[in-house]
Amino acid sequence: MNPRPAYCTAASARGGRSARQVALATPQARLAANRYPVASSATVLLGSADRGTRQYAGMPSTPARPSSGSVDCLVVGGGPAGLSAAIQLGRMCRSCVIADDDAGRSLWSQVTRNHLGFPDGISATDLRLLGQEQAVRYGADLRGGRVVRLRRDRRASGGFVATIEPRETSATDATPGLPDNQDRERRHAAGLGERASARTRTIRARTVLLATGVVDAFPAFSGRDECVGVSLFWCIVCDGYEAIGRHVAVVGDDEDALETAFGLLHFTDRVTLVTGRRRTRAPRQHLRALEERGVSVRRTTVAAYCHRDGRMERLELGDDDDIACDMVFVSAPKRARTELGRRLGAATDEAGYLEVDPEGRTSVPGLFAAGDVTAGHAHQVSAAAHGGATAATAVNYELYDPVERGEA
Ligand SMILES: Cc1cc2nc3c(=O)[nH]c(=O)nc-3n(C[C@H](O)[C@H](O)[C@H](O)COP(=O)(O)OP(=O)(O)OC[C@H]3O[C@@H](n4cnc5c(N)ncnc54)[C@H](O)[C@@H]3O)c2cc1C
Repeated sequence: MNPRPAYCTAASARGGRSARQVALATPQARLAANRYPVASSATVLLGSADRGTRQYAGMPSTPARPSSGSVDCLVVGGGPAGLSAAIQLGRMCRSCVIADDDAGRSLWSQVTRNHLGFPDGISATDLRLLGQEQAVRYGADLRGGRVVRLRRDRRASGGFVATIEPRETSATDATPGLPDNQDRERRHAAGLGERASARTRTIRARTVLLATGVVDAFPAFSGRDECVGVSLFWCIVCDGYEAIGRHVAVVGDDEDALETAFGLLHFTDRVTLVTGRRRTRAPRQHLRALEERGVSVRRTTVAAYCHRDGRMERLELGDDDDIACDMVFVSAPKRARTELGRRLGAATDEAGYLEVDPEGRTSVPGLFAAGDVTAGHAHQVSAAAHGGATAATAVNYELYDPVERGEA
């Protein structure tokens, strides 16, 4: 008789699951084994019997609730803020749809190294995949598509009606993130049962949570998308640490660029500020102060960003010189994706971000917001996840009836 391979023996001892499947049963193990890149791993990700149901090992089924034809909460945006909200809502037994058009900041190639629980860092896209898996585990319904309209539901039950268009056909000026990352996420989401909108649909929701993020205007150059999050950055809180001891260029001459150049001196003494224009508008005394602290200030444009496979090597400058650099920080303008909220009358601040109270309520009853779309500062994964979880808790409270709230 042929001896059985070791993994078969292990499988029979574990109720039919192979040793490899058992070994990959935790997200950490799956990440370590790099099981995320291909959708065909969906069986391993969730276990075929579990896919599309709430019946995960040891997980109770939720109590039946009367249906109004509306989902409890529509979460617009499947980045860290939206996914965190969906997990929280699911764990409060609220029905939740996450609509995402795959065009967020978390779809670039950065590795998040400042988020609790990942000592070696985690790629922004891996975190999304884990978040999707976790949200689906608690019942979230993934919908691929772009929410293009949001209006009040005129029915007595109130709430909202959202129009979702297929992401491929609807127009957007949002930067999509790296196409490879998008494809990988779409395959993964499909394995989790995502329903990608093939035609325009409407969905009714008792509440809506906007977690739509912002769009960065990174400089345009050939191969730019491979550089974003690898050698092209905008925030030293996120990526300053990686500049330690390296050649770094800051491109821009606004307040943000100058602050970034000063801040980078805490990490490296090899900082060059390229103003991006010959006749700079930066205050002369600030440029002098930078030079006094050892920053090389170049009052010229960038003629070319020279990189290999996304790794920056040097900048060709408009004055025919060039400089070596390993990383570039740009002061890229940001536009918060607030259209859906603004059309409903939600207030925005001077910089164009949605105004929310400390619990994520916008000025429109029933409409909540979280993450980068709500503030011009603290654009961090942890802050977005916190905002999403907090707003979801407020959504849950909003959905209680007056008796449950102790008001009647
Ligand atoms: C290059 C780079 C490096 C970074 N490095 C770090 C780091 O090291 N550490 C850190 O903490 N943070 C880092 N950040 C910031 C971090 O990525 C953001 O703070 C975080 O992604 C914000 O999460 P969010 O959910 O608010 O928005 P996003 O991640 O942008 O997600 C928003 C989602 O909403 C979707 N969406 C928007 N509008 C619609 C619509 N109408 N219909 C359907 N879907 C919609 C988008 O497709 C997107 O998926 C970095 C960002 C960049 C660009």
